[in-house]
Amino acid sequence: MDPEHIALVKSTEIYKNCTNIVIGKGNPNANIIFVGEAPGKNEDLQGLPFVGAAGKNLDKMLENVDLSMEDVYIANILKCRPPENRDPSIEEIKAHTPWLLKQIEEIKPKVVCSLGNYATKFFLSDCEPDKMKDQPGITSVHGKIKNIEIKGQKIKLIPLFHPAAIIYKRALLPEWNKDMEIVKAEISQKTLF
Ligand code: URA
Repeated sequence: MDPEHIALVKSTEIYKNCTNIVIGKGNPNANIIFVGEAPGKNEDLQGLPFVGAAGKNLDKMLENVDLSMEDVYIANILKCRPPENRDPSIEEIKAHTPWLLKQIEEIKPKVVCSLGNYATKFFLSDCEPDKMKDQPGITSVHGKIKNIEIKGQKIKLIPLFHPAAIIYKRALLPEWNKDMEIVKAEISQKTLF
């Protein structure tokens, strides 16, 4: 990874308070990448994304559609845990996402699934954090495919509810299942790959 991207992350206050930088997990050649918000307590301790309650839910929901860690890559908008899991700041997003974009450039996924509001607004705003506040929320855009371009690569963005939201609001589960059918249909399209 480029030293400048690492230096940017290390320049933020949340780096000083975290145990590990959480880079990502899964298959670095996957056709599909899931992007969440930020590491939580368990992720910070283990240095891996989505290993706590939300992660266990994500694993289960991926398994339901026959997707394993071999099929996907998983990362976050922020590489370090914000204290008390507070919301990411725009400055943090600006400092941490160049690394994420570099990962996407290298992995070359065909589909990006943004998990929850922060990741969704980031990609909908053409990866310009200052524009995130003008983007619609996840409730109105989940499951709607948007063609985007990241570093010259054509990518299908599919916004999804955050797996943590589905834990405390079970009524979202049927919505998630419907959205995952859309994801499955996209990644099984032969013309896509
Ligand atoms: N929530 C996220 O958005 N990312 C994680 O890695 C864990 C919980």
